[in-house]
Amino acid sequence: MKTGFIGLGIMGKPMARNLLKAGYKLVVYDVNAEAVRELAAAGAETAATPKEVARQCDIIVTMLPNSPHVKAVALGPNGIIEGVRAGMILVDMSSIAPLAAQEVAKSLAEKGVEMLDAPVSGGEPKAIEGTLSIMVGGKKEIFERCKEMLGKMGTSVVLCGAIGAGNTTKLANQIIVALNIAAMSEALVLGAKAGVNPETIYQAIRGGLAGSTVLDAKAPMVLNGNFKPGFRIELHIKDLANALETGHEVGVPLPLTSQVMEIMQALKVDGKAGNDHSGIIQFYEKLARFEARKQ
Ligand code: NAD
Repeated sequence: MKTGFIGLGIMGKPMARNLLKAGYKLVVYDVNAEAVRELAAAGAETAATPKEVARQCDIIVTMLPNSPHVKAVALGPNGIIEGVRAGMILVDMSSIAPLAAQEVAKSLAEKGVEMLDAPVSGGEPKAIEGTLSIMVGGKKEIFERCKEMLGKMGTSVVLCGAIGAGNTTKLANQIIVALNIAAMSEALVLGAKAGVNPETIYQAIRGGLAGSTVLDAKAPMVLNGNFKPGFRIELHIKDLANALETGHEVGVPLPLTSQVMEIMQALKVDGKAGNDHSGIIQFYEKLARFEARKQ
């Protein structure tokens, strides 16, 4: 039986390619016809709707922007739910609200369909390499059935708990990444305007306690003034909105997350929502009237 793959964007395209390389027979769909053509050229079959994907597959992977897209593709008109049979599995790898994952799972369960929420961390480079970190929520036996396939897209595949737990873990990840980029930005603009080459600051601190995966991924981009996404600010706004909503629901105030959210909102107003999230530094640079670039 074939595997479905819906959502062929920055992340979904390389993830689907890795499944093809590993020998999986894929049926793909995206509203973007060009993305579908690229995957067809790489050997995938195509379908006209999510319903048609579901008719031909046992397992379907989705990699879409946010909760409304996942709900529309899974449960909407011509959606997956219209083409399913009992025993099928939906593996949603999009980063969405944990509550939305639970809602979709509940509707699919009425048709005997199982679901995992399995958002990822690592960005486009790791999606291309097949070395993503995958955070999974769902039943253990369903996780075990999908683990091998997930292992073709990522090197770390961890079951975090019941359905929704993957996305809760991803929200924690996104808070840490956003705050790290903001801290890096604040520090590099200070250092640069105070007269030290920001490249030297980066090289001097990257091996110490302030060193991090975020610093190594984002400082080179910032120093070169390269804000090509990668991970767009608008998607990070979506994740922080989901984090704040979840925090408010369960009773956890998120003071630092809300500050970085407003920094990202300011960048959006400034027309920079499509920049990589390393573009957060532009907020600090505007305040300080000084750019932290390689000298
Ligand atoms: P993207 O916008 O590049 O891709 C989304 C794809 O979904 C697009 O090709 C779009 O055409 C398609 N799509 C939207 N609505 C659709 C519909 N109704 N039916 C079919 N296709 C539809 O986004 P991305 O960067 O690939 O991110 C996907 C998910 O992965 C997001 O939830 C994001 O937060 C998460 N994520 C992204 C990164 C990253 O670095 N880009 C890293 C980790 C996680």
